[in-house]
Amino acid sequence: MRLDKYLANAGTGSRSAVKAMIKKKRVEVDGTVVTDPKLETDHDSTVMVDGVRILLESHIYIMLNKPKGVISSTEKEQARTVIDLIDHPQKDELFPVGRLDKDTTGLLLITNDGKFAHELMSPKHKVGKTYIAELRDEVSQSDIQKIEHGIPLKDFTTAPAAAMKLAARKVELTITEGKYHQVKRMFQYLENEVIDLHRTHIGGLRLDDTLPKGHYRRLDENEFKLIK
Ligand code: URA
Repeated sequence: MRLDKYLANAGTGSRSAVKAMIKKKRVEVDGTVVTDPKLETDHDSTVMVDGVRILLESHIYIMLNKPKGVISSTEKEQARTVIDLIDHPQKDELFPVGRLDKDTTGLLLITNDGKFAHELMSPKHKVGKTYIAELRDEVSQSDIQKIEHGIPLKDFTTAPAAAMKLAARKVELTITEGKYHQVKRMFQYLENEVIDLHRTHIGGLRLDDTLPKGHYRRLDENEFKLIK
């Protein structure tokens, strides 16, 4: 990324403030005073302002309680995205780990760590995602068994999933894949309809109940270990 962006992302100041610092020869990159704000830098560069090292945060992991009405995307041209909810100087490096539908709420991880995101989403790693689904119609015990067994959808058959009936029209289920509209399509197959969907867990990581919808916080180290 450009040097002025590096400095702004690291929280040193606004783009115009850091450009002024560069112009005044206050900035060194890898031991050389730099006057070009466009100079290419990255996480490995040694960037100093007035002799003080300026570091970017390398890995950022955020837990968001996703509200309805925002999309899990980084594309800005459509509706409001989950990234719009985050205030962080390195915001433009961040992306959601996988997708929740616009009308789905609950646990969504936001990171700048591509390897972590890839591993978490890969069906190979079989990380469970737990949802609470509210249904239009009552769910039968035979529906639960079908979910536990695997549901033949158009493009694939779902892997055996853990499922528990919480109320006549409420089910908790844990799936290890994350295909497009998967939970909704599973209930469609059962001639039912999901009217509300909320994700509570990814692996062993539970959504912090004290986080209001649309709020987020950093994961602590113990929580991070619970995920995979
Ligand atoms: N399954 C769905 O149908 N929607 C989601 O948002 C997540 C899982």
